[in-house]
Amino acid sequence: MSRPHVVIIGSGFGGLFAAQRLRKTDVDITLIARTTHHLFQPMLYQVATGIVSEGEIAPATRVILRKQRNVQVMLGDVTEIDLKNGTVTSRLLERFTTTPYDKLIIAAGADQSYFGNDHFAEYAPGMKTIDDALELRGRILGAFEQAELSTDPAERERLLTFVVIGAGPTGVELAGQIAEMSDKTLKDAFRNIDATLARVILLDAAPAVLPPFGEKLGKKAAARLEKMGVEIQLGAMVVDLDYDSLTVKEKDGTTRRIESQCKVWSAGVQASPLGKQLAEQSGVELDRAGRVKVGPDLSIPGHPDVFVVGDMMAVDGVPGVAQGAIQGGRYAADAIKAELSKGQTPEQRKPFSYYDKGSMATISRFSAVMQVPIPGTKKKFETEGYFAWLGWLALHLVYLVGFRNRLNTLINWFFAFTTRGRSQLAVTEQQVYARTALGHLSEIEHSSVDDVEGELAKGTATEEKKPETEAG
Ligand SMILES: Cc1cc2nc3c(=O)[nH]c(=O)nc-3n(C[C@H](O)[C@H](O)[C@H](O)COP(=O)(O)OP(=O)(O)OC[C@H]3O[C@@H](n4cnc5c(N)ncnc54)[C@H](O)[C@@H]3O)c2cc1C
Repeated sequence: MSRPHVVIIGSGFGGLFAAQRLRKTDVDITLIARTTHHLFQPMLYQVATGIVSEGEIAPATRVILRKQRNVQVMLGDVTEIDLKNGTVTSRLLERFTTTPYDKLIIAAGADQSYFGNDHFAEYAPGMKTIDDALELRGRILGAFEQAELSTDPAERERLLTFVVIGAGPTGVELAGQIAEMSDKTLKDAFRNIDATLARVILLDAAPAVLPPFGEKLGKKAAARLEKMGVEIQLGAMVVDLDYDSLTVKEKDGTTRRIESQCKVWSAGVQASPLGKQLAEQSGVELDRAGRVKVGPDLSIPGHPDVFVVGDMMAVDGVPGVAQGAIQGGRYAADAIKAELSKGQTPEQRKPFSYYDKGSMATISRFSAVMQVPIPGTKKKFETEGYFAWLGWLALHLVYLVGFRNRLNTLINWFFAFTTRGRSQLAVTEQQVYARTALGHLSEIEHSSVDDVEGELAKGTATEEKKPETEAG
């Protein structure tokens, strides 16, 4: 008899930790993901700003799992989940694979949300993938290069104005690093421009910086950023974007334009569209961000063998952070283990409970904010500055996968934080133009499909007419 087959979608925190938790379980696992790597998203901003290389935060999933003999890793974009027949269909180029499952753990994460303005992505990419981070690195450094060549003061100003939209942890980290890069790393590196005069704007429609960290830490983070020269504009909602500028609506309804070529979006998230398929097939509800309202055991109603974890799940009190995904992935794996080894029924499962280990965000080198719950109370220990920053470094090293990655990262950090140097400032043309090129490619694809369909339509019309003519 073959062993139960567990299919896991996603190689992020939820998917990888679920697979590892099933290491000693008598099951066969297929882990399907659309990238070959496990991405450590919390350090993407360091790739974008040249501190670490992409390989350090994105080790190959099949290499991480090579010693775990019960896992098979499969590259593919899951296009369909069929709950009725218990299958998952994935696509790699033109090859479609249908994989049956006995148990399914869906951990496909979330994408950037532009709140219905998806065309903003062309001018203000988000930061969710390695491609995004490398493209951003190209855009940031490319803006400096263009400014060096420009003789028009207005154009130079536009090129040296960097706008980060969204003042959550990612926006704060990115704004801080762009400011630090222009002030320290690129200082004296150009002959016609002074890189230290670059303007970095962090803006948000909300009235506060780092809202999840509370008012006190938010204000401290804002003060630290302002000290570094970052301009903070709150209560400002982006209503339009184009290649050279963005339009912002103030609370009083007035609008203004900011001239800026390099813009970054870190304002919202939207769960994987796979959630919509689950909703259509099972009737499970989705929240406003498209996250699946799972039951207390993280399964979907009527399908106790299908779990949704991580950024895709909507569970009260569980934030969309790495720990939420890790704990969710492990919980689902434990439920499968308990059923197979102890015969536990879905009704006997203890509800998932999230253990909040605290949250952190870096602002610049030597400065971070940290919030840790005090056990047995509803209070939180809060701190900011150097010790919080050291805590951030230590924790992120612990969760980086692979000894070599940790060592390389440590060396790069030492170099970046003790000198003003950054070792990863290489940019390739592909990184800068890839999004535009892919956009053109997809336009060509669509137009040729339209042409073919148009031709077919004409042909069909002619064929349909033919008999008439003949008959006539
Ligand atoms: C820039 C940034 C900074 C962050 N900083 C922090 C931080 O400091 N601390 C913190 O705790 N959290 C942070 N987070 C949040 C944290 O990274 C996420 O909460 C966590 O990664 C969620 O894990 P997940 O497994 O649900 O999804 P992900 O880690 O996003 O993994 C999703 C996986 O699914 C795959 N996938 C998606 N769709 C498909 C499909 N159709 N077919 C096949 N595979 C698919 C993806 O390739 C990926 O492997 C940050 C996130 C970002 C983007």
